[in-house]
Amino acid sequence: MSNIIAMLPDAVANQIAAGEVIQRPASVIKELMENAIDAGASNIQVIVRDAGRSLIQVIDNGKGMSEVDALLCWERHATSKISSADQLFTLHTKGFRGEALASIAAIAQVEMKTRQEGEELGTMVKIEGSKIKEEAPCQCAVGTSFSIKNLFFNVPARRNFLKSDAVEMKHIIEEFQRLAIPHHNLSFQLYHNGNELFNQKAQSSRQRLVGTFGSKYDERLVPVEEETEIVSIQGFVGKPEFARRTRGEQYLFVNNRFIKSTYLNHAVTKAFEDLLPEGSFPFYTLFLSIEPHLIDVNIHPTKTEIKFQDERSIYAILRSCVRRSLGRFNIAPSLDFDQESSLNLDQYNENKAIVPPSISVNPNYNPFDGERESYSRSEASPVSRPSFEGGGFSSPKKEKNDNWKELYAITRELEAKGRKTDEEDFDFKEAGEALVEHQKEAFKIDQYTDQALFQLHRRYVVTQIRSGMIVIDQQRAHERILFEHFLEVLEHHNGATQQSLFPETVSLSPSDHAIVSELIPSLNALGFDIEEFGQHDLIVRGVPVEAGALSAEELLERFLENVKHDSDKTGIPGKEATAKSLAMGSSIRPGTKMESQEMRSLVDQLFACEVPYFSPKGQPTILTFTLEDLDQKFKR
Ligand code: ADP
Ligand code: MG
Repeated sequence: MSNIIAMLPDAVANQIAAGEVIQRPASVIKELMENAIDAGASNIQVIVRDAGRSLIQVIDNGKGMSEVDALLCWERHATSKISSADQLFTLHTKGFRGEALASIAAIAQVEMKTRQEGEELGTMVKIEGSKIKEEAPCQCAVGTSFSIKNLFFNVPARRNFLKSDAVEMKHIIEEFQRLAIPHHNLSFQLYHNGNELFNQKAQSSRQRLVGTFGSKYDERLVPVEEETEIVSIQGFVGKPEFARRTRGEQYLFVNNRFIKSTYLNHAVTKAFEDLLPEGSFPFYTLFLSIEPHLIDVNIHPTKTEIKFQDERSIYAILRSCVRRSLGRFNIAPSLDFDQESSLNLDQYNENKAIVPPSISVNPNYNPFDGERESYSRSEASPVSRPSFEGGGFSSPKKEKNDNWKELYAITRELEAKGRKTDEEDFDFKEAGEALVEHQKEAFKIDQYTDQALFQLHRRYVVTQIRSGMIVIDQQRAHERILFEHFLEVLEHHNGATQQSLFPETVSLSPSDHAIVSELIPSLNALGFDIEEFGQHDLIVRGVPVEAGALSAEELLERFLENVKHDSDKTGIPGKEATAKSLAMGSSIRPGTKMESQEMRSLVDQLFACEVPYFSPKGQPTILTFTLEDLDQKFKR
């Protein structure tokens, strides 16, 4: 019998492995920048053309390589960083697997020039698809420069998989910042198509953050510092009043390596408990230093997860030191029992006349007035804006159906299903159609009778129906109405714009900017009037009329927050997600008072929707309480 097993040629093996390490141009930049940092560079320059598709250059002034190393470094598992397994536990470098250069060389055309201090000449190596094409002495500066051309030239499938330039740039900027932020003592430059995006000098950690996120951040930062046996923590958190509606700027580093940890993120968020308005996210950039032997290093090189030996203690220390820092800056009470000392009860005095307690009530008091969102919206009529009224909704006439028992059986089933099913998997159309027709009619029968609509705590709209009552969640209902409306508008490109008297300039973080610039055509179809302005800013001359009194910046911020929650890894939403995010961003919030014709209009439009019973996220919009339900509760 003949043998059938053969070893894969190296080039093929490398190409397969490259898939794991190099997913997109940003991965190349990450690996090359890490190598430059490991090589002791003090300046690192990154030059990108066409979002890295045609050219990536990383130039450092580090220690360079000898002629032999310049050839060896392309071999898989060629590394200068460890020579035995136990060194894994004392590792202070970023690399150690010797995979990056082998992977990059397998899927691109690479030229490297490198020279060590004290050598007159350096070495130039050209390698393409893992094959060395040329090797020669050359003149070059001390340090190493890589130029990577035509990424994935020999793996068309991967090349086609790349997203738009805006998305790829967003990833590149993210990786760049994740390395530039912790290594503030080095200088970094990033250029794209000849434009300088970042130029950061060696500076303090605080200056680096301000340089990265903008000068506004200087006054927003609260320093955090903690030294314990198992971990030392340094960095900054943002003052709560500057928390954002978008989750974006939260960075955690362990030994200067960017990591993601839901668990530790929770610790920081917990520290902000009670200090943040609901639905906002604090800024933080925190650097943890932990002895390498207390971390599990056996992780995949490109993964950002990490395992700690003593995660619980780290959680507790992180939470309490952030809380304490906030307290020290007079933002949060640092000791919870502080307040109790101020509780001085008046001593009982026999001679003192007893006065009954009096309460003064302000009938106009609105507990939500303090929040930005409500007062900016309070003037706006949430559901009866002109372009929105009768926005093409129609509700088909159906025969009156008296089969209430059946109706409520379906409702319950749907509600239960809605609760159990994953938002995404839930097929509203299939599940909802029968019920929707039933209930639309059922409601109509009642709504034109004398039933008043009643707003409960500025959150819910309550009304009687024949068999009992319904409670409508005003925010979710409005989200549903706007969602279906925006979907249609996107389809027909007929969004109505509310022009601003003065154009608003909105600056976004580079990654948010990348998302928005990708979406400008869709946003303009929806009623925005947005134009790019320079590298970082947008000029907004108008917003969709449905946005009411929200400023362009607020609206975009809310929109982005929903986009980030919702869309896949690329961060760029499709039509449906765009409509959904804008609907959720511009809907009325709890706390908005509604006049009775506004409630009427909300309810009418909700029942005219295709899927009135669920918000775009799949949460119920309407609860029904039958007389039977109530009777049962009263044990009649
Ligand atoms: P690793 O970083 O895991 O060691 P790489 O494939 O990224 O693996 O790099 C292989 C080796 O090439 C490194 O260990 C280092 O010795 C050398 N090298 C890579 N980049 C540079 C650089 N910019 N300057 C000096 N040496 C480098
Ligand atoms: Mg490396």
